[in-house]
Amino acid sequence: MLNIVIFGAPGSGKGTQSERIVEKYGINHISTGDVLRAEIKNGTELGKTAKSYIDQGQLIPDALMVDILASVFDSFQDSKGVIFDGFPRTIPQAEALKVMLKERGQDISVMLDLDVPEDELMTRLIKRGKDSGRADDNEETIKKRLVVYNTQTSPLKEFYKGEGKYQHINGLGSMDGIFEEICKAVDTL
Ligand code: AMP
Repeated sequence: MLNIVIFGAPGSGKGTQSERIVEKYGINHISTGDVLRAEIKNGTELGKTAKSYIDQGQLIPDALMVDILASVFDSFQDSKGVIFDGFPRTIPQAEALKVMLKERGQDISVMLDLDVPEDELMTRLIKRGKDSGRADDNEETIKKRLVVYNTQTSPLKEFYKGEGKYQHINGLGSMDGIFEEICKAVDTL
């Protein structure tokens, strides 16, 4: 199975590139952000809990996220692989993912780090907020999310370097150019 972690700061293009990867390689997609937004929309208890964190630009507790991830993963039938988008976001989540996959005879194939400078992220997210109306894409919350990314999520680069799974991708430029770089990395696996 082809199990890809697509990694990067908010606004780095994980969602956009994931869609293309799914189409080309025929794998399943787990976006934890999308799962949480669906729960909020449906007014579930989980959605209410998630909203209180998301609105503050904070992360949902690891234990809750790990349970959600495992249940989505186990819902896939005859899967050729999975792209993990927005998960893991902390070292404990990365460790839990490793254990979860191992228990299922699986492993991460590669971690693609979409690298985009912070001023560009800010511009993209403010634009996305205006276009899509996503509640957490406002300047104040974006700043908090970038702090959370730099402190809690960014250390995962070292984690995956240690695992020999890290692949840097230049996240600036055309969507096609970025996708080409991703495909080159995936096709060598
Ligand atoms: P995203 O759509 O991936 O940018 O996620 C939006 C928000 O959902 C984040 O700012 C977090 O509050 C929450 N979230 C998504 N994925 C995770 C995760 N793996 N761990 C904790 N919180 C998450």
